[in-house]
Amino acid sequence: MNNPTTDAASATARRLLIVGPPGAGKGTQAVRIAEELSIPAISTGDIFRANVSGETELGVLAKSYMDKGEYVPDSVTNDMVRSRLAEGDAQRGFLLDGYPRTLDQVEALDEMLSGLDTTLDAVLLLVVETDEVVGRLVERGKEQGRSDDTEETIRRRLDVYAEQTAPLIDVYEKRGLVRRVDGMASIDEVTAALREALAGR
Ligand code: AMP
Repeated sequence: MNNPTTDAASATARRLLIVGPPGAGKGTQAVRIAEELSIPAISTGDIFRANVSGETELGVLAKSYMDKGEYVPDSVTNDMVRSRLAEGDAQRGFLLDGYPRTLDQVEALDEMLSGLDTTLDAVLLLVVETDEVVGRLVERGKEQGRSDDTEETIRRRLDVYAEQTAPLIDVYEKRGLVRRVDGMASIDEVTAALREALAGR
């Protein structure tokens, strides 16, 4: 049935993921694209880091995994995302950065979205070279003092990504959702390419 209100809302609705290995520039690009689309950029890593700084119970738990380069358990992460997606600002769209990262999280997100009677619109994939990424992350560790940006933890995070997160790309590829963008270009060029990918060019 045609419902002008719903149609207008869904025309502007954007439910997006940004995926890529640690250091691909997901966070930087997510903030830019989300702002252009007037939707929240939701970074699970940022939410965990805010909890670590605030010394909450969740933060203490998350830190024990983050410092080793391991993933925080799915049940904890899924509950956190479920409550974030229930907030008012996420009702007309969102750009999830760093979630889902495991097949279990994909399933949990599918359930959350079907509960909201909606689906994903696209999965933006930043393609980068691993050696370059290690260099970027070592630099970020020095600049931002991130405790998980030491060389040993970076290598572990890249391994965990390859084992647990890279397989998700196939899942979303089969659904026809993946839009690949070269993440090795300059920040502005990557933003422009993401914009074009979203416009379907
Ligand atoms: P990020 O800032 O996205 O690189 O995330 C930093 C760290 O937070 C990761 O190395 C994990 O320890 C944790 N983390 C972030 N997102 C997730 C997730 N979706 N599932 C499990 N752990 C996560």
